[in-house]
Amino acid sequence: MAIVSQASSSVSQASGSQKPTILVTGGAGYIGSHAVLALQQAGFGVVVLDNLSYGHRELLDEELKVELIVGDTNDRPLLDRLFATHDIAAVMHFAAFINVGESVNDPGKYYRNNVLGTLTLLEAMTAANVKKLVFSSTCATYGIPQAVPIAEDHPQSPINPYGTSKLMVEQILADFDVAYGLKSVCFRYFNASGADPLSRLGEDHSPETHLIPLVLLTALGKRDSISVFGTDYPTPDGTCIRDYIHVSDLANAHVLGVKYLLENGKSDAFNLGNGNGFSVREVIDAAKQVTGREIKVVQCDRRPGDPPALVGSSAKAQETLGWHSQYADLNSILTHAWNWHQKRHG
Ligand code: UDP
Repeated sequence: MAIVSQASSSVSQASGSQKPTILVTGGAGYIGSHAVLALQQAGFGVVVLDNLSYGHRELLDEELKVELIVGDTNDRPLLDRLFATHDIAAVMHFAAFINVGESVNDPGKYYRNNVLGTLTLLEAMTAANVKKLVFSSTCATYGIPQAVPIAEDHPQSPINPYGTSKLMVEQILADFDVAYGLKSVCFRYFNASGADPLSRLGEDHSPETHLIPLVLLTALGKRDSISVFGTDYPTPDGTCIRDYIHVSDLANAHVLGVKYLLENGKSDAFNLGNGNGFSVREVIDAAKQVTGREIKVVQCDRRPGDPPALVGSSAKAQETLGWHSQYADLNSILTHAWNWHQKRHG
């Protein structure tokens, strides 16, 4: 079969007390790899599907020692073989393109991968009678917020193709529940950040566009300066405010989401944020403290499509799933990210 398997000691082969096996698409990526680790720590078997267009195979092979199937969510024959050869109880679906600016310039790429790829996956799941999915959605589905903190019943009106592609999937999932009984949990993330506290995993996008890794790469001397996109926003210091959430907290929420579905929870959507906003300037100042390094700042024009402030309420995830963030403070997020970047790039 056309499956490339790295399985040396797949957790899914372990003892009889083993919990069910979860398929993680995009498991070689930033959030997906942290979710694989969290699933393993919770005792689940894991199989990863990743086309490695952006992910890091070595993290799976060396740190997670998990079975990797190299392939695409648009490849229906591959998915059919995967479900035929593995006893999958639920799917965590991270595989997607995530660059907002690119989605504006190349929307077809986003709709093909994020929407069609997911539709193909859902049809393969339904055919294989796998009917539980945790979906990686985004606060970008809300668009420009009418008020913060944003709750789940805030209108969803995305302002870029990336957000639209994720909202389309949320709508497809609602229809698949009605038609086929496929149950889903949609997590709408705010700003995923930080790294595994033990530096086994972390953020390594190419190209990198996110604020915290760019600030830390500047502190490391890998970049000359950090650009602040817009200093005239209607915020206290004129720069954009975002709700930064630790990637390990996100990963733990996904484990709770899978458990909720396996216990026959109904389809639902949950925000994942900390409810605290930090401005771009505050993030850079905190990074100077954490790293003890000089970080050169350059003030630039606004980046198109950036709402002034995005802060989420996660009360629903706390009440329904029992989720709590372990690393809600910016210092922990920056410290863990700094440790990772030093190990990876230092
Ligand atoms: N940002 C910035 N300089 C950069 C990258 C990002 O000022 O080099 C700002 C960006 O405009 C936004 C915030 O930092 O207000 C967080 O951006 P990021 O790309 O990390 O996440 P997003 O909010 O787009 O998901």
